[in-house]
Amino acid sequence: MLIASRSLWLAQTNTYVLAPEAGGPAVVIDAPPDLEGISALLTEHDLAPVALLLTHGHVDHMGGAGAVARQHGVRAYVHPDDDYLTLAPERQLEMLFGSVQPGDFAPPDEFEPLRGGQTLHLAGLELEVRWTPGHTPGHCCFFVKSEGALFSGDQLFAGSIGRTDLPGGNLATLMTSMRDEVLTLDDDVVVYPGHGPGTTVGTERRTNPFLQELT
Ligand SMILES: [Zn+2]
Ligand SMILES: [Zn+2]
Repeated sequence: MLIASRSLWLAQTNTYVLAPEAGGPAVVIDAPPDLEGISALLTEHDLAPVALLLTHGHVDHMGGAGAVARQHGVRAYVHPDDDYLTLAPERQLEMLFGSVQPGDFAPPDEFEPLRGGQTLHLAGLELEVRWTPGHTPGHCCFFVKSEGALFSGDQLFAGSIGRTDLPGGNLATLMTSMRDEVLTLDDDVVVYPGHGPGTTVGTERRTNPFLQELT
């Protein structure tokens, strides 16, 4: 499987593309408000997106979702518990910057709702949806079992965890998600986070200071 990424926008959010091989259909995971950056990543590997999966509704992960959905005619998938965020990317930008820069930040007309435990079959890949509330109520991680690859969004980072001090965040909930949906995975599962470098479940289980009370 091809996994490629770029870190985009002010928040240096990792956008991932997944495909059985270069030159064919692909799944995009997360869409920061940088359509050019996402297009460049797709072009680099000659990929045609068939779906856009969103780990959660923060604008650094979905501000470009509407533009990508419209440009490529694909559906955007997100958990409905993040509707308060995904339906209002411009309000999120306004809260961050006091104003909205010109650009196409309108959300897609509709989202495809994700459910925890669901298996998605997209672009010839099988992805397991792991609902991991805590950073936001609708946060999801995506697990590709055949590859041992977890796309962890803002749930788990190398050496850290997602912040829970934003509206809708809850640390106890995040820790429960971590125990039940992330740390149940094998040590050799490779973690592809929403920010920063990759890691493995085993490395985080052993060394991540935020997880030590769970192990
Ligand atoms: Zn976030
Ligand atoms: Zn983020």
